[in-house]
Amino acid sequence: MVAEQARFLKMHPKSGVMFESAKKVMPGGVPMSWMAKWPGAYPVFVASAQGARFIDVDGNSYIDFCLGDTGSMTGHSPAATVAAIRDQVGRGLTAMLPTADAVAVSEELAARFGLPLWQFTVSATDANRHVIRYARLITRKKKIIVIDRCYHGSVDETFATLDSHGNTVEREGNIGAPVALNETTRVVEFNDLQGMEAALAHGDVAAILMEPAMTNVGIVLPDNGYLVKVGELAKQYSALWIIDETHTISMGVGGMTGELGLHPDFLTIGKAIGGGIPTGTFGMSYEVATAIAERVHLDEIDTGGIGGTLAGNALSLAAMRATLTEVLTPAAFEQMISLGSRWCDGVDAAIREFNLPWHCNRLGARGEYVFQPTAPHTGREASDAGDFELEQYIHLRLLNDGFLLTPFHNMALMSPATSEADVDAHSKAFRQVCADLKMAPAI
Ligand code: PMP
Repeated sequence: MVAEQARFLKMHPKSGVMFESAKKVMPGGVPMSWMAKWPGAYPVFVASAQGARFIDVDGNSYIDFCLGDTGSMTGHSPAATVAAIRDQVGRGLTAMLPTADAVAVSEELAARFGLPLWQFTVSATDANRHVIRYARLITRKKKIIVIDRCYHGSVDETFATLDSHGNTVEREGNIGAPVALNETTRVVEFNDLQGMEAALAHGDVAAILMEPAMTNVGIVLPDNGYLVKVGELAKQYSALWIIDETHTISMGVGGMTGELGLHPDFLTIGKAIGGGIPTGTFGMSYEVATAIAERVHLDEIDTGGIGGTLAGNALSLAAMRATLTEVLTPAAFEQMISLGSRWCDGVDAAIREFNLPWHCNRLGARGEYVFQPTAPHTGREASDAGDFELEQYIHLRLLNDGFLLTPFHNMALMSPATSEADVDAHSKAFRQVCADLKMAPAI
């Protein structure tokens, strides 16, 4: 680690100078606090990004497997999205009125995810916040079920976890919670149908909010039949089922909902579908839309807690239309998913060669390894397998070698611009990391 830290300083002098200036005007020297969590003495400052690569201000070039944590799953600045943005920039950016793109994007989302009606927000976080409000409105119930160790953006209700007695408590590090988390939330483990039913049986649950596979604590895949059963339980107990596809879109054009033919009441997504332009959206069934319409009156529609002035703005809709119809196409997914498999094959080969007690999970265009020999079955198991120090080392080492992984865990994402050569270069570098770790006395 000491050697890699020194190599980092040597390779990134200009980023270091910028960081010194940045510290004077931004807490932690970063535009958003979590950007301080990258490995190395300071974050690398980006000069430009194109396709699957970016170049930092020191001229170092990287193969980007982080891709803005899915915000640039399209590859950086995809040509079709950029052309649509350029065109829209000259025709108005936001007007509080719909554009024709809104219809085209909604039609495309409906075809992909199977839900007929769509609304637009500025982020996936907003989409989740809004559907939670609507679920409470429709059901007149208070609580939201979330999965232990989930992440759905900065949504108050989701920063809860289970304590060792199975009680819902505030998650560690939660900042400024407005009320105690057990007032708003009930937490259950992923893949635990009994726990889900017990949580629903209280009769006070408005909605279940979940990713169809966990992606923010490592990848945790659903058991066969688990998701369908969750949907059935939600119906049985008159709770609404919200699927968050923001990351699981990696499984295909319609995410896991499309791939598995699931029928949630609401679906939320953001990030990738704007090709890097901030956006979010939520889909709903006709039943849900009717229930909302019956309860929301036009004279109060702007002050009900749903919205955002820039929600559904012309620029983001133009970006979404081009991204969905020209960049994140079925053909692109086929290629990205094949590369995701190739990346995991490379990781698996090194794990096998050096007999490491690690496991690599596959989620279409996404791959991720955990520091335990088997696939985790719950969020807690995945989280317990975490090793912050080891992760920081691997991330720093790979960064110095010219690869960016998703921070906070060991995840890689493929874009339509990623090549087999990019993946094979990572496999080679990762193999060398494993070889060196195997030589180290602690492993
Ligand atoms: N849902 C999921 C599954 C996410 O992973 C994230 C962010 N990582 C969000 C929602 C929130 O996205 P944003 O921060 O862009 O609002």
